[in-house]
Amino acid sequence: MISDPDCIFCKIVKGDLPADIVYEDDDLLAFKDINPVSKVHVLVIPKRHVSSLNALDDPELAGKLMLAVPKVAHKMGVGDGYRSIINTDSSVGQTVFHLHIHILGGRKLSWP
Ligand code: 5GP
Ligand code: ZN
Repeated sequence: MISDPDCIFCKIVKGDLPADIVYEDDDLLAFKDINPVSKVHVLVIPKRHVSSLNALDDPELAGKLMLAVPKVAHKMGVGDGYRSIINTDSSVGQTVFHLHIHILGGRKLSWP
């Protein structure tokens, strides 16, 4: 498993940092965001360290990540309506450089 010792999400994967985990399988982890911006705010991540969407080169892992999103949303009670977001680069708000898909739900969200 590729892991970065300085990455906070890798630390969560290893169990070295606590997190409120809502879903786990061999390749993925989903946990509640520490600073939620909606009633439901969870992050779906690959267990393997991938720094951003631009560094994702495994189609199978990409598929697994994408298919986990509705599953996790359903589990969190927002399966009928949620927003999924990936920030890529600090210029658009990426602050943790381990790929994660935000799932937001449980309140009305405006667009954009
Ligand atoms: P980004 O801004 O990179 O798209 O999203 C990073 C997200 O990770 C933020 O929403 C932030 O609140 C969350 N986050 C940062 N550090 C931690 C942590 O240690 N634990 C958890 N559960 N979430 C974190
Ligand atoms: Zn990492």
